[in-house]
Amino acid sequence: MKGLQVSVTQIKIERAAKLKPKPDTAKLGFGKYFTDHMFIMDYDLGIGWHDPRIVPYGPFTIEPSAMVFHYAQEVFEGLKAYRRADGGIQLFRPEANIARMNGSNERLSIPTIDPELFLEAIITLVTLEKDWVPSEPDTSLYIRPFVIATEPHVGVHASSSYIFCIILSPVGAYYAEGLNPVKIFVESRDVRAVKGGTGYVKTGGNYAATLRAGERASQMGFSQVLWLDGVNRKYIEEVGSMNVWFKIDGECVTPMLGGSILPGVTRDSCIKILKHWGEKVSERLIDIDELFEAAHSGKLEEAWGCGTAAVISPIGEIVYDNERCCVCDGQIGPLTRRLYDSLTDIQWGRAEDPFGWITRLD
Ligand SMILES: *Cc1c(COP(=O)(O)O)cnc(C)c1O
Repeated sequence: MKGLQVSVTQIKIERAAKLKPKPDTAKLGFGKYFTDHMFIMDYDLGIGWHDPRIVPYGPFTIEPSAMVFHYAQEVFEGLKAYRRADGGIQLFRPEANIARMNGSNERLSIPTIDPELFLEAIITLVTLEKDWVPSEPDTSLYIRPFVIATEPHVGVHASSSYIFCIILSPVGAYYAEGLNPVKIFVESRDVRAVKGGTGYVKTGGNYAATLRAGERASQMGFSQVLWLDGVNRKYIEEVGSMNVWFKIDGECVTPMLGGSILPGVTRDSCIKILKHWGEKVSERLIDIDELFEAAHSGKLEEAWGCGTAAVISPIGEIVYDNERCCVCDGQIGPLTRRLYDSLTDIQWGRAEDPFGWITRLD
């Protein structure tokens, strides 16, 4: 566990004149409410990142010609601050999100951000907004850092100016279903990403490309799309904006990272927890036909998606072309349940953190 380092900060704070009323924590939903303040830092070519500051939450004024609107030069992250039973607040693996965002910046030709300043920005902002960290079960404060290209120029090249911003949103469960197993639809027309592209980084364009399939699936009553690889159209990649896991014949399998899959912090945490328990874990190719064969022969024991927003989301049914399979009788599997409990116990500070994942803010 790492303690908070209170540094003499270079971050200037301008407080909001009037604070907003807090939303009803029983009806938070996900990503609908934003706190009183946000963090901002600017980048200009020749100067670098400058003027880190916390200001009242509010609209940006940027030119319609700002490059982000035309060429989608943008990256983002998502992590959470959790309220412990003793009233304290903690972060889960923030260094991993910071490192991943710098990897995203690198892929999108955006200048990287000093990781220490990045962490300090998160800690200073969350500490200032600590009254916004909800305490109802399963609620948290979602932290959304992002960078947008702001150079006013219609012409394809890397922008010479950027805004780095962090906003905060008190959230409840990501899916209305809660821990109830979701139905997923295997998409065979659109693809999300290909190797060499940007599938392994969090950049807005990846998500814009998934909306159509998501809407089609939702109209048919599914909550998520399961993506297949863009070349062979048969290897399983991810489910919605979560990584995916299967327990097949005693083995916990998740698709290996290969350039088209987002390297989830929750995915990595699942690998470490499962190995810690002595489970057999493999990161490998999983053919969709192999999955259905396993399901039909009774070897597909459990399936779940994982990500910061939804934590662990059990999968109860999978539909591919005209085939359909039920997982674990549509119930949450025992290992899925145990993983959910262990991970959330560490995140909310109900259990020891043997992995050194927690940063306490108090
Ligand atoms: C964010 C994200 C994930 C999950 O990553 P976490 O770090 O666990 O939140 C998985 N897939 C996609 C496409 C994502 O955007």
